[in-house]
Amino acid sequence: MVWIRNLIAVLVWAGLAALSRPVTGNFSWAVFSFGLGTLLAWHIWQLSRVVRWTRDLQRPPPPSAGLWDEALARIYRHLRSQERQLALLEGNVQGFFAAAQALPDGLVTLDEEFHIDWCNRIARQHLGLRLPADRGQNLLNLVRAPAFVDYARQEDWPAPLLVRSPGGGERLLMVQLISYNKHQRMLLTRDVTQIEKLETTRRDFVANVSHELRTPLTVLAGFLETLRDMPPGALSDEQREQYLKLMLDQAQRMQAIVADLLTLSTLESSPTTDPQPVNMPILIETALSQARALSGGRHAFASDIDADMDVLGTATEISSAISNLIINAVRYTPDDGHITVSWRREADGSARYAVKDTGIGIAAQHLPRLTERFYRVDRSRSRESGGTGLGLAITKHIAMRHEAELDIASELGQGSTFSLRFPESRVVAAEHRTRQ
Ligand code: ADP
Repeated sequence: MVWIRNLIAVLVWAGLAALSRPVTGNFSWAVFSFGLGTLLAWHIWQLSRVVRWTRDLQRPPPPSAGLWDEALARIYRHLRSQERQLALLEGNVQGFFAAAQALPDGLVTLDEEFHIDWCNRIARQHLGLRLPADRGQNLLNLVRAPAFVDYARQEDWPAPLLVRSPGGGERLLMVQLISYNKHQRMLLTRDVTQIEKLETTRRDFVANVSHELRTPLTVLAGFLETLRDMPPGALSDEQREQYLKLMLDQAQRMQAIVADLLTLSTLESSPTTDPQPVNMPILIETALSQARALSGGRHAFASDIDADMDVLGTATEISSAISNLIINAVRYTPDDGHITVSWRREADGSARYAVKDTGIGIAAQHLPRLTERFYRVDRSRSRESGGTGLGLAITKHIAMRHEAELDIASELGQGSTFSLRFPESRVVAAEHRTRQ
């Protein structure tokens, strides 16, 4: 031990001074006092260097000797090790903050009285919070929805709560409070608007399908009961024919709905197949012949078809979309109306298949909803003409699977134009047909 050695040296020195006093008189004390004074001065000098060093502890300690050297080296090592630990801790804290910021959900940390400590970016959007301005504010003063305030005041929060976002818009949030130690809580927020919309669509869809099938089923069951309860021979041949026709109509109606539902579900669930060149002029001509047959001479047809232009896609799907639009034109155009079908290249290189009619037209407020399943402007007219309310939903799906756009332009009482616009990348010249 250095300090013991130093102490022994001072004691030996003091002893020698005491022993030599009878011979040397006060001289030895003077030498001893001088030595002690020098030692003290040296220590004071060392101390002042240490004090100077403490003003900037990043520098290595001043070089010294003996006890000072050992003490300073230890202090310096201790400081460096603390610095390393601090950096490690800081890194961890930064990592936690970065992770909390990157969460797809909102996170707010609170004290037991709901004062805001910190929140991530998503929570700011969801709850309209601002940091640092809102730090220390009571969350219940900022999110005032009564349902949320009641929820927060519960003893504990075993389940989440659905609330409208106070951050604006029609956003629906699922929020959950969690107590993670005695004095700290966190609030998690998740945007469930899309999930809720999907759930509503699913519920509406099931209700619509049930409704659509119930009507023909009720009619069919009614006729069957009547027939069962009638005494044999009570029906004339003519009446029997009429009953059977009505029953067949209803059965066919259900068949059409089920077929369209299956088409929709196939379109939604099956992956798109490798696009092949599709002979558009032939598909359009085939659809036109079907439409003429359905019209039975009640409408005038015209066509303007580019015979040398095809598209890349799936023939069965494109054929179904083409027919849906022509058949609708026939259904919703009164007798003597005109129907014009065109297949032309646009100035921007895309190709447009358009069906223009001089029919009943559609009021502007219905246009955005026409491609929803079972949406009809006039329910009874659609039913009378054998519509399922799914044709445009199917067409829209097919368009999406071909990167095409379904455009609808219509004016009430004047007529409509429904068109499918295929991007240039999907358009091919008819030359490929000769190579096939
Ligand atoms: P529907 O089987 O009822 O025809 P669609 O999905 O094909 O179902 O069309 C949805 C609704 O859009 C129709 O009920 C009709 O009200 C309207 N509609 C479609 N095509 C036309 C058109 N050419 N002219 C006027 N209304 C149309």
